[in-house]
Amino acid sequence: MTDPHPGRLLGKVVVVTGAARGQGAAEAEALTREGAHVIATDVEPGTTCRRLDVTSDAEWAELAAELRESHGRIHGLVNNAGITWRARLGDVRPEDFGRVHAVNVTGPLLGIQHLTPLMPPGSAIVNVGSVAALSGHYPVAYTASKWALRGLSKAAATELGPRGIRVNTIHPGFIETEMTVSAAPAFREANIRETPLGRTGTVDEITPLVVFLLSADASFITGAEIPVDGGHTAHGGVKSISDALLEGTP
Ligand code: NAD
Repeated sequence: MTDPHPGRLLGKVVVVTGAARGQGAAEAEALTREGAHVIATDVEPGTTCRRLDVTSDAEWAELAAELRESHGRIHGLVNNAGITWRARLGDVRPEDFGRVHAVNVTGPLLGIQHLTPLMPPGSAIVNVGSVAALSGHYPVAYTASKWALRGLSKAAATELGPRGIRVNTIHPGFIETEMTVSAAPAFREANIRETPLGRTGTVDEITPLVVFLLSADASFITGAEIPVDGGHTAHGGVKSISDALLEGTP
């Protein structure tokens, strides 16, 4: 099948954070395929990634200065870098709570602060939330950070709208990456049970939405939140009730 939208991001300069692996790497590739000039960044720099620790104000400032010099303008930012921490409410230490918040919330804030001065009208930002941002998920530091990111996204959409900059949030469900490889098998199985589509997702099921939200196809969409979760958050926790009743049905 031929691509109905060849080069939807032709000539656009897009920064992706946490792009050394997982969803960020796939996003960088997909955006490049659509014609974007992608600046892939990560705290673990590699052959394809420039170093950027999203928690560092100085490193963001350096990147912004560099991009101002090399490209003058930036059209997109994907705040993808994120870390999880699976301590529960009774066990989580304030320092871990703060560390997760620094990467998952302060990182996107700094990115927005440093890069939006380089963004012309028509630019767009995608923040990567989680189904944890839509529920009372047990890893409390991660959950609280992703809810905070929703608040940041809403405030940014409101404030940047008049400048023609759109800000949207995507909420992945269980996606097969190194982040989820580190989870217990029971976590994976329970996630599948709670997912109406009955399986986990892949990075290639995340990237089309990121491309779309950064492109002019999404020109009137801002402040939106879109789950990519196989229906996980659609049932509000009642799937287990439905499944339990079905088990007794001939
Ligand atoms: P991953 O762990 O495979 O990749 C995360 C990347 O972020 C890594 O390359 C890591 O080096 C980088 N990173 C970590 N700290 C950083 C920092 N301080 N500065 C810059 N980069 C940093 O995870 P992933 O699954 O690809 O996750 C991508 C995003 O999707 C994250 O925001 C995550 O919270 C979110 N998410 C993932 C899932 C999932 O099931 N995998 C579900 C919901 C949301």
